[in-house]
Amino acid sequence: MPDFLTPKQRSAHMGRIRRANTKPELIVRKLLHRLGYRFRLQWKDAPGRPDIAFPGRRKIIFVHGCFWHQHAGCRLAHVPETRRDFWEAKFARNRARDARDLARAEALGWKVLVLWECEVGAQTALEETLRDFVGPTNSKSIHNLDRA
Ligand SMILES: [Zn+2]
Repeated sequence: MPDFLTPKQRSAHMGRIRRANTKPELIVRKLLHRLGYRFRLQWKDAPGRPDIAFPGRRKIIFVHGCFWHQHAGCRLAHVPETRRDFWEAKFARNRARDARDLARAEALGWKVLVLWECEVGAQTALEETLRDFVGPTNSKSIHNLDRA
């Protein structure tokens, strides 16, 4: 949890977070913390309520599960054999919603990073991706956290 939430905000978050805490998202959040960034979770003032938001920088990150968001060409994004019509309809809705959220966010001036579950494992590449996207941290302690 970010340490700048009030107890009330914190408990309001907890209810949502239990549902939202997928493992890839946790990995990204932990890494961002270690890099010294401050961010918001499930930011409701941006389209699609992004998993991670930097409101001051006007940047948001979606961490997408490859199955639910049907990562194109990904081995994790298979369509189940049973109830195929159901799944295809559901995935089509998810993809349409993702595309709509992305377009709206960009139209409102948000910079958007979409991270896919299958890409989150490679920590070094992820760290670079996050630094490039979010930009310099304001914290001086970042220098102690830098890895050679
Ligand atoms: Zn994937």
